[in-house]
Amino acid sequence: MLHELLSEIASQNARLVVVSKTQPVARILEIYQKAGQRIFGENRPQEMLEKQAALPADIEWHLIGHLQTNKVKSIAPFVALIHSVDSLRLLQEIDKQALKNNRVINCLLQFHIAQEETKFGLSEQEAIEILQSPEFAVLQHVRICGVMGMASFTEDTEQVRKEFRALKTVFDHLKAKFFPKSTHFHEISMGMSGDWRIALEEGSTMLRIGSLIFGER
Ligand SMILES: *Cc1c(COP(=O)(O)O)cnc(C)c1O
Repeated sequence: MLHELLSEIASQNARLVVVSKTQPVARILEIYQKAGQRIFGENRPQEMLEKQAALPADIEWHLIGHLQTNKVKSIAPFVALIHSVDSLRLLQEIDKQALKNNRVINCLLQFHIAQEETKFGLSEQEAIEILQSPEFAVLQHVRICGVMGMASFTEDTEQVRKEFRALKTVFDHLKAKFFPKSTHFHEISMGMSGDWRIALEEGSTMLRIGSLIFGER
């Protein structure tokens, strides 16, 4: 299963984030060894911290869940990509902690594309306000690499497709307006176990997949 998934994703020039939340270290290590997988995603900073300490150092740890400003400090030394940036305040804190660790932290802006009220994320207008603010302009230790979004949890594949398409449009707008020459701004993190094929068709560069690989949590 994982090998097929990996080759299909690679053939589309996308990458796979294996979502390992709630999974024990032994299962992560198995996938690391057997499939050569190096990118893993966690949604809780504390859990990511514990797993990072217990697993090989060349794993790229991606934080995919909502991040509170007071948790940034703990993951700042090693996190490879934060998918879930949804405020200027959070970006400022990531910048501060990155500076303390003498590094630049890669980030994605998370957008609210689903119909559900509960999912986090920015609107395009909110993102524009952040990106053109003087407060953002002075940040030197965060690098905005693209966008992330979660589609509605529904059987209606046309609805899901519409939402992914909307995220791709946001990406295109921001790229044209703020990052026309940037080689860093290139990621569209979208697609999970139930909708990854649609996400790939709509231009995803990064799939975040858990239960399809590990079984239901
Ligand atoms: C859990 C989670 C995933 C993976 O979900 P699956 O349905 O298990 O593939 C992807 N993205 C985020 C933000 C998640 O929290």
